[in-house]
Amino acid sequence: MTITHWINGEPAAGGERSQPVYDPATGQSAQEVQLADRATVERAIAAAEQAYPAWRDTPPLKRARIMMKLKDLLEQHADAICQLITAEHGKVLSDALGELQRGIENIEYAGYVPELLKGEHSKEAGPGIDSWSEFQPLGVVAGITPFNFPAMVPLWMWPMAVACGNTFVLKPSERVPSAALYIARLAAEAGLPPGVLNVVNGDREAVETLLHDGRVKAISFVGSTPVAEHIYHTGCAQNKRVQALGGAKNHAVVLPDADIPGAVGALMGAAFGSCGQRCMAIPLVVAVGDGTAEALIAGLRQQMAAMRVGPGSDNRNDMGPLVTQQHYQKVKGYIDQGVAEGAELLVDGRELSVIGADGRPSQGYFLGPTLFDRVTPGMRIYQEEIFGPVLGVVRAASLPEAMALIDAHEYGNGTCLFTRDGEAARYFSSRIQVGMVGINVALPVPVAYHSFGGWKRSLFGDLHAYGPDAVRFYTKRKTVTQRWPASGDARRASFSFPSGQG
Ligand code: NAD
Repeated sequence: MTITHWINGEPAAGGERSQPVYDPATGQSAQEVQLADRATVERAIAAAEQAYPAWRDTPPLKRARIMMKLKDLLEQHADAICQLITAEHGKVLSDALGELQRGIENIEYAGYVPELLKGEHSKEAGPGIDSWSEFQPLGVVAGITPFNFPAMVPLWMWPMAVACGNTFVLKPSERVPSAALYIARLAAEAGLPPGVLNVVNGDREAVETLLHDGRVKAISFVGSTPVAEHIYHTGCAQNKRVQALGGAKNHAVVLPDADIPGAVGALMGAAFGSCGQRCMAIPLVVAVGDGTAEALIAGLRQQMAAMRVGPGSDNRNDMGPLVTQQHYQKVKGYIDQGVAEGAELLVDGRELSVIGADGRPSQGYFLGPTLFDRVTPGMRIYQEEIFGPVLGVVRAASLPEAMALIDAHEYGNGTCLFTRDGEAARYFSSRIQVGMVGINVALPVPVAYHSFGGWKRSLFGDLHAYGPDAVRFYTKRKTVTQRWPASGDARRASFSFPSGQG
């Protein structure tokens, strides 16, 4: 089967090239995805441009109602969408449902768009003068998304963009193309007019076309830092508004007074959920003080031994495979590297063997949960984003020492602190140089009515993703100053600001 695109409200083919889409749990491929060429992307942009004037002039309340309908449809079709996510990404079905739910929350927030676009009004800004600010859509905007959240990250972007009156071209990850296409079909069923949302599958050629086409006014990107940086600088040079969210290396800090069993439970999910392929995952835990590392390690080892790894479609499993063979080799290479660098390998995920449905060793990309102790900042496994089920324990003598480690790291996406000390927690959350902070919460992913974004090399641009920042990102402010002179008003020249006149 060939997976194509969605242009102007219907399935559309386009592009000479294609590549296989694998089921990571079996290593088999039963389908391929067409990679859009420049002409195909230009067709999608043209459809979005044509749909824009009527959509811009559609009352926000009507746009919001389509979002409400889409929310219902997504809930009705949740099982089918989650199966697509698991078949292409590999994550367990319950986790696929979690990401879809988070995506739906963004649609709910977009349903408040009449309220969000109300603007600001000042009566009598000057004598007989009223002034207001309104937020107008930009036109055609685009989104480029990563493999690790096939439904949620696209839903961070396009629902709010179109609710604000823009039209959209989405380029999902070519490794997981099906969920975004399925949702685009549901959006059409919910009443989204043709051309308002277009989905082009593809790779670099599609991205470069979006970056260089003058009709595209803004680009939201989520993916790895090198690509984010390229998108940000190229897009800005093309006079586009750009936000580009990049990679991460998130630290958890555990103080000696923390609830250690509670921290262990939270760290297990944060380190190994989705096989460590989350930008908010915790790959490093900094154990502060004497005995904290030993207590954490004892708890982690016990829980890791009880973890079930296997196909995400089997609800009894806690963790599925990595996304591709290439990514499996990369993560395995980091474990080899950690051993060579002198970190202490306590639990070795390379030893895992999963038996397939035919009773033979699976060809899926399974790697077991892995635990290193005595990881230090000079090591590559400390510095680089591994994006796999590998947790490293780092030791620090004090909270300031732990915080200095975090602040020195190039990434600043998320972090968390486990403690019972309110003063330490308050100091940590206010001073740490990271965009999203948890206190006794390992995955502090903001809810849909806040905004999501890291600091340092985890985000390029001024505004964060979704929430209130998305309303600002997908609109431009216009300020109108208005005077309706009463009949008989003297018409005389004025040489000063009206607001300065009595
Ligand atoms: P990726 O950077 O390889 O790909 C992201 C998107 O960019 C895809 O659509 C891909 O087709 C496109 N792309 C890839 N290489 C390109 C190139 N050279 N030129 C133009 N476009 C290119 O990322 P990925 O492997 O799909 O996703 C994992 C990465 O995403 C991790 O680094 C993870 O931390 C990051 N991520 C960040 C966030 C966040 O919110 N900060 C969220 C999810 C994932």
